[in-house]
Amino acid sequence: MTNTAPITQDVLTIPRKLPEGPVNIVGLTRDRLREVLIAHGTPEKQARMRVNQIWQWVYGWGVRDFAEMTNLSKAYRAELAEKFVIQIPEIVNREISADGTRKYLVRIAGGHEVEVVYIPETDRGTLCISSQVGCTLTCSFCHTGTQKLVRNLTAGEIIGQVMLARDDLDEWPTKGQGFGTEGPRLLSNIVLMGMGEPLYNFDNVRDAMKIAMDGEGIALSRRRITLSTSGIVPEIHKTAEEIGCMLAVSFHATTDEVRDKLVPINRKWNIAALLEALRDYPKASNSERITFEYVMLKDVNDSDEDARRLVKLIKGIPAKINLIPFNEWPGAPHQRSDWERIERFADIVYKAGYASPIRTPRGEDIMAACGQLKSATERARKSRKDIEAEAGL
Ligand code: SF4
Repeated sequence: MTNTAPITQDVLTIPRKLPEGPVNIVGLTRDRLREVLIAHGTPEKQARMRVNQIWQWVYGWGVRDFAEMTNLSKAYRAELAEKFVIQIPEIVNREISADGTRKYLVRIAGGHEVEVVYIPETDRGTLCISSQVGCTLTCSFCHTGTQKLVRNLTAGEIIGQVMLARDDLDEWPTKGQGFGTEGPRLLSNIVLMGMGEPLYNFDNVRDAMKIAMDGEGIALSRRRITLSTSGIVPEIHKTAEEIGCMLAVSFHATTDEVRDKLVPINRKWNIAALLEALRDYPKASNSERITFEYVMLKDVNDSDEDARRLVKLIKGIPAKINLIPFNEWPGAPHQRSDWERIERFADIVYKAGYASPIRTPRGEDIMAACGQLKSATERARKSRKDIEAEAGL
């Protein structure tokens, strides 16, 4: 579905002057789209209506060609096609696991690549999307953590992952008829658990998720979107206030000594600071629990004492605990805990009153399981400044 026009610059992250060349409208917020339409000649009094119309075509029905937008005049469609493009990242590789999990390797501006994973289940279909090329952080159990940060993804490149997956799943509703909100959806949930720390790319993640939640387009409920952070304390409340989605925390240890090694950002905001931010997280309630992700590492963080300490630490926080059997990757410094150990750990947590599902590893055969993602894009000789300039960041 993606058109082959040269990769254009997203305007969102560029100072307000308009860039040379066609503008990619994917990733623009409604307000910004209105601004650029007016700046490119759309009469101000029509602009809000034009935004609604274009929005429905692009995010409601998955249209990538202005010529198909039949409720716009031919002349206006031609004008739009001259000044704008509708561009999303390109799938360069697609693997399907024996368990139905799909892994996409997608290319973005500058030729960089990120991985995206679709996990089908009986009652839902979850898309795990990336927010950075590589990662700012270096969590020891995570394959992405071995890939230096190349750059943040733009809002267009983040929401573009949802759009390319809908293309691949053929899940756009029939043009002109509703937005597919009725009936089961193949892509019903989004988790920001792919490559990168989403809270180190807050603005672009926020704008992209706002687009995903917009009722005139992809129309995903905020409760079906989960943002996972390793613990960027100052940005946590903003997630509730400005995005409003569900929150997950890469917790993984019950002492600072161990968490400093597994999740090095703990040296900046330790367990106490993180729990304090979560204790008064504006959106947390019994119906909207914070998910504590806990990777099960053999003889590192999987003792009975760890389990008991974990439930003591999170006492008073509306929480659920996701136990993640570690998914090994080449050169990984850890091993997965034995299943008996994982079940024993889950039992202690469960008896303490916490739902503690053990996450079933999915897509292991295609290196698509949690923590296995990594793209070949290495930060080459180019400086970060060059790379970000390339992508208009
Ligand atoms: S777990 Fe998340 S924050 Fe940590 S290195 Fe991996 S991608 Fe980055």
